[in-house]
Amino acid sequence: MADDRLKMQDPRKQYPQPPFPKQPQQAPGLAAAMDPVPDHGEESYVGHGRLAGRKALVTGADSGIGRAAAIAFAREGADVALSYAESEMADAQEVLDLIRKAGRKAVLLPGDITERTHCEAMVKKTVAELGGLDILVNNAGKQTNQKDIGEITDEQFDRTLKTNLYAMFWITRAAMPHMPPGASIINTASVVAYSPPAILIDYATTKAGIVAFSKALAKQAIEKGIRVNAVAPGPFWTALQPSGGQPQEAVEKFGTSVPMGRPGQPVELAPVYVFLASQEASYVTGEVYGATGGNGTA
Ligand code: NAD
Ligand code: MG
Repeated sequence: MADDRLKMQDPRKQYPQPPFPKQPQQAPGLAAAMDPVPDHGEESYVGHGRLAGRKALVTGADSGIGRAAAIAFAREGADVALSYAESEMADAQEVLDLIRKAGRKAVLLPGDITERTHCEAMVKKTVAELGGLDILVNNAGKQTNQKDIGEITDEQFDRTLKTNLYAMFWITRAAMPHMPPGASIINTASVVAYSPPAILIDYATTKAGIVAFSKALAKQAIEKGIRVNAVAPGPFWTALQPSGGQPQEAVEKFGTSVPMGRPGQPVELAPVYVFLASQEASYVTGEVYGATGGNGTA
């Protein structure tokens, strides 16, 4: 497998650029239904044994950023438990096949992470089937744009907070007693934690919360030898955006708001998750890693 990602080239031209077609989907959308289909590293990511023998749990692992992390983790030698919503089985099946093709074990964990009992059961099943838990990626997310605060229903506010904050708390609380020294927790935040857009009040609130949670937990978890970091992506080409994350007009020109002039592809974040998960990041904890396309996290 040739890794063309590593060939020196102009990063602005390396992946698809807008305009993109309108492509509304119901949330959570499917990666397979996107045009162009996102690049999660299926054809390109080459591992180098950085996570040999590790056991990982990744939420939102069927598509987008979580899928890129799951594929990369497996190719780096990790077994991976995949959390996703039941409606996303088609996407999850593709990830399962890729992990098996990499010679690693995969565990499927379909279900709704807005339920505490499901979050706790996922951790239990991961530990039972993989024989432990070394890497936890809290990545699942819900994003629903609304022009006016008056349009944000209680139900939306509640589901956004449950998906993005409560699930991270429930899963992490259940997972930590199983995690040995050297383990790593990675939470997917966003640039919107720092530059909250007018149309994402509830979502941006959760992303700022994820940054604070990660920094506070890092200080506590290091007493057990566990590192905790967050990742702050800019605009990434994933099912989250055409399924209500952005208005359709914004999907057509997705990525034009950053100096790079295009959205990131999920595979472009894979090395960040691998690094933070691996022992190469031994002195890295309490950090927020940006991959923003040029606007930064300030
Ligand atoms: P995605 O839609 O591919 O992934 C999100 C996943 O969340 C879904 O695949 C789904 O499996 C999971 N999920 C949502 N609600 C769930 C529920 N109730 N139960 C179980 N699973 C549920 O999109 P993505 O962009 O890869 O999102 C991953 C993370 O990246 C999210 O936290 C998102 O907020 C964050 N993020 C994305 C962008 C971007 O531009 N795409 C930018 C910054 C941060
Ligand atoms: Mg999905």
